[in-house]
Amino acid sequence: MSESRRNPVPGEGNEKAKVMFVGEAPGYWEDVKGRPFVGRAGKLLDTYLEDAGLRRKEVYITNVVKCRPPQNRTPWKDEIEACLPYLRKQIELIDPSVIVTLGNTAGETVFRLYGLKWRGITQEHGKIYRVSTVFGEKILLPMFHPAAVLRRRELGEEMRKGFARLGELIEQL
Ligand code: URA
Repeated sequence: MSESRRNPVPGEGNEKAKVMFVGEAPGYWEDVKGRPFVGRAGKLLDTYLEDAGLRRKEVYITNVVKCRPPQNRTPWKDEIEACLPYLRKQIELIDPSVIVTLGNTAGETVFRLYGLKWRGITQEHGKIYRVSTVFGEKILLPMFHPAAVLRRRELGEEMRKGFARLGELIEQL
């Protein structure tokens, strides 16, 4: 995958962020710009962030895989494994209190990191999980991927509720 990418997209944001967003993989515009969530899904994510009272520069945004998969296909297992040490290190260094996973791939991958069973995004969207780690307690909040909301507008209401829950969580931090 790294052979076909234009730019790696490692992630960006506040190194002291309390909230980290994890998406699936860079798409076309992310590949062009080397930045996460800057295409249509990213614009929608920005509006949800605003709703939760967050600014982009306060949070950290990354993806499970750091290179765009050809034709935006879902990343393969071996690609996820190859990128996993980067995601682990990012979580360790930034040490966010809340990790919001966007979509199935991110949810499944991050749940696996914390030894949790993943039951699919439809089941898990908006649920709050508290996990204890050597760095203290973390909150995992799986949500739909904004690209899914672009394809299925009926998910928008659930997405807004999820971000409202995130807003409340942040106030308690
Ligand atoms: N979709 C993702 O999962 N990540 C991005 O950075 C952009 C779109």
